[in-house]
Amino acid sequence: MNEHDSERIAGLLEADGLTQADGVDDADVVVLNTCCIRENADNKLYGTLGHLKSVKDARPDLQIAVAGCLAQKDRHTIVERAGYVDVVLGTHNVHRAADLLKESRAEGRSIVEILEAAVADDHETFASALPAKREVPWAGWITIQVGCDNSCAFCIVPAVRGKEISRSMESILDEVVGAAADGVTEVTLLGQNVNSYGRDLAVTARRAGGDARIRPMFDELLRRVGAVAGIQRVRYTSPHPKDLSAETIAAMAETPAVCEHLHLPLQSGSDRVLAAMHRGYTAERYLERLGRARSAIADLAVTTDIIVGFPGETEEDFERTLEVAAEASYDSAYTFIYSPRPGTEAAERVEDFVAPDVVADRFERLRIVVERSALLRHEDRIGRVEEVLVEGPSRKDAAVLTGRTRQNKLVHFASEPIRPGSYATVRVTGAAPHHLRGDLVEVLRAPTHKTRLPLLVG
Ligand code: SAH
Ligand code: SF4
Repeated sequence: MNEHDSERIAGLLEADGLTQADGVDDADVVVLNTCCIRENADNKLYGTLGHLKSVKDARPDLQIAVAGCLAQKDRHTIVERAGYVDVVLGTHNVHRAADLLKESRAEGRSIVEILEAAVADDHETFASALPAKREVPWAGWITIQVGCDNSCAFCIVPAVRGKEISRSMESILDEVVGAAADGVTEVTLLGQNVNSYGRDLAVTARRAGGDARIRPMFDELLRRVGAVAGIQRVRYTSPHPKDLSAETIAAMAETPAVCEHLHLPLQSGSDRVLAAMHRGYTAERYLERLGRARSAIADLAVTTDIIVGFPGETEEDFERTLEVAAEASYDSAYTFIYSPRPGTEAAERVEDFVAPDVVADRFERLRIVVERSALLRHEDRIGRVEEVLVEGPSRKDAAVLTGRTRQNKLVHFASEPIRPGSYATVRVTGAAPHHLRGDLVEVLRAPTHKTRLPLLVG
């Protein structure tokens, strides 16, 4: 979500006549877009600002803006601790980035503008409705929903992103059609709880006298986005396990463009911990939904998020997480060490915090379990021919290209030069826990985006 906001801020500044600088040293404007989901992201801000201060001391014309969740949360603290920051803007006013920088320059003062809540209007609420400067021209993030109505005990998102607001289906489809016309072939639908997409829209429509059914519409959205001409791949993140419906699973199974990949955050395998987190499901329920998805969608890759060391997590609780993770047989997992976020329920449970050395040990044990299942699943793919969306030369070896399969697996493959954004088939010849290796079979489709990237030297 934050990466996408960054693309939008860059797009707004570009629309305002700025161009991308090579680095801080030749920049007139630096925007730090912040995340506060865990403490380490939070800590980086002041260190980076300290460095920027020395640049600004030498070049007082440099403008510094701080945007994003941390700005939303810490607003005045930022100007108190770093008075040289020119603009502080929150999560609900991304669309004001360029204007605020101009105002601050014209008035020669720092401006803090934080809206308390999103306004249910496309341009204000959905960063996607603003001009984009996409990181790559063939893939696009599409915001379908902002905010979150859940109250997971560890999570700061509802406090910094506000209540759940869904974007209208027409507006989403318009953006997808526009992106496809620009040559985007892969879209990722973004929301904190995508399965409840549309619930608020139906309630509003019904209150206004319409006969809207009050039921989430995510399945319908998947089908309609998947039907947009030119869109080859549809991904989404994140579904909440408690709301993953049979309709969504059916839409995934029946819409060819929707990729065979489900990111289903588990958080913990212990029912006691899941209840304390207020997640709204048990491990059994989670595995049951996962089983249904696997039986409906052939060759489904499954990834997850897991938190280690939630307050009060015992060795027994953690062993349940290991068991459930092994049973779920993940393709990969984002594993996080619990990070107390001030203002959240779990952060109050200081006496239950798990000792750092115990957490570190559990984290390592979980990594081993996840990598074991990932490797087995990857080895299973050896010999298959997979469709790959080509991203560019691999970081280590320019003669090897990198791409992603429909299951979102990174593949490094020996190949003739191919333009990034092309689709190709690759025969899988090797496997590792975090990637596959292979050889090019054939190029299927050249990219259609207008920005011509240089032909790669294979
Ligand atoms: N809405 C998504 C999660 C978004 S946050 C969902 O409910 O699944 C992304 C991930 O960050 C979460 O799944 C969780 O694993 C992790 N996370 C959030 N808050 C955290 C915290 N305080 N400490 C550690 N990890 C956290
Ligand atoms: Fe945070 Fe829970 Fe909402 Fe996800 S569902 S954003 S973890 S509160």
